[in-house]
Amino acid sequence: VDAEIIAVGSELLTPFRLDTNSLYLTGKLNALGIEVRFKTVVGDDRLRLKEVFQAALERSDLVILTGGLGPTEDDVNREVAAEVLGRPLVEVQEIRRRLEERFARIGRTMAGNNLRQAQVPEGAEWLDNTKGTAPGLWLEHDGVRIILLPGPPHELEAMFESVCLPRLERLSDGQRLRTRIYKVVGLPESEVDQRIAPATTQSTNPATTVLAVSGAIEVHLRARAATHQEADALLAGLGDKIEAALGDHVFSTHGESLEEVVGMYLVMKQKTVAVAESCTGGLVSERLTRVPGSSSFFLGGAVCYSDELKTRLAAVSAALIEANGAVSKPVAQAMAEGIREWTGASIGVGITGIAGPGGGTADKPVGLVYVSIADDRGTQVREFRFPGDRERIRTWASVAALELIRRRVRT
Ligand code: AMP
Ligand code: MG
Repeated sequence: VDAEIIAVGSELLTPFRLDTNSLYLTGKLNALGIEVRFKTVVGDDRLRLKEVFQAALERSDLVILTGGLGPTEDDVNREVAAEVLGRPLVEVQEIRRRLEERFARIGRTMAGNNLRQAQVPEGAEWLDNTKGTAPGLWLEHDGVRIILLPGPPHELEAMFESVCLPRLERLSDGQRLRTRIYKVVGLPESEVDQRIAPATTQSTNPATTVLAVSGAIEVHLRARAATHQEADALLAGLGDKIEAALGDHVFSTHGESLEEVVGMYLVMKQKTVAVAESCTGGLVSERLTRVPGSSSFFLGGAVCYSDELKTRLAAVSAALIEANGAVSKPVAQAMAEGIREWTGASIGVGITGIAGPGGGTADKPVGLVYVSIADDRGTQVREFRFPGDRERIRTWASVAALELIRRRVRT
């Protein structure tokens, strides 16, 4: 079964609203073994929607439209579907009754245009909307299944889950699609690609995609088979080769984030961590506290941006800063040791660097970051030269810090 999604709404063509419905739908369809072959975003524009819808009917077995079902004039999906399929719009008494009831319940009179929601293309089945007013529609036309869903994500998700999923399950051709995500840190994308190529180029099932995601590289595997179990076995087969090729650079095999993995190890080893952050401005603390249960391993720390606060909050001596500069190995080291001492954490982390765009010099360029980690086994400092803009440098620095913690607590 080949599916296609058409997201309708002029706001989706602006920088202010992203089409997230199609991401949700794609995930659900893939899990059923249904591949999405096309996605289109189209404005509230009858003519263009008509074009897209017509093309979809010719090339796909399942066409899902989202949005455009509201009561206002700019919501045209019902009309366009009726027109393209050559079916008249007919009023469904039951929808009308429910609309009237709903408005009576909240003590408001119904504006006339709400009745547009009771109009459906002849022969369409309407799908109850438990979270809003606009009913969805289910049509079958010349062997193509067409589903119209409301735009608000919580309405769409509730409707899809309760009504569409069970029906599509019956319809999917027995193929199951399973995915696995390997997350890798400390290797550039090209190197990841090179290392896994001998295994992945041999394989079309699972299919492999390599992508860079905020400081990490992800290797996505997608396998299809008659059952979940068989698909999982295929994933495990190729996955083992990928893990062997990437070694301990793989920090996650089932979608966990780096901070989650770090948290898990810290809990396992019953260690606590505290952080003194300069150029990351609290990013590492923010990421660690995203993890539910972080109170059991994260004590806290300090954002010590100024030299003075490095001294006051992380006990870095003013003379040390004077002698080496705030962005230096000894200062990073002193920050890690100082915050550890001050908080009583088992592990202290210090981060200092130049995020840019200003402030770089020939020997201390933008992107230079020192990350240090201190525990009862001693203190380690690493120097990094990250490329990119301020945002990227700060992200990479936070990844480097988390990765240093991971390596320290893993063994
Ligand atoms: P509509 O049903 O077109 O009136 O859309 C109702 C609300 O859902 C609006 O706030 C839209 O911005 C939002 N919405 C519509 N389509 C999508 C989509 N594909 N992804 C995320 N939000 C959407
Ligand atoms: Mg709309």
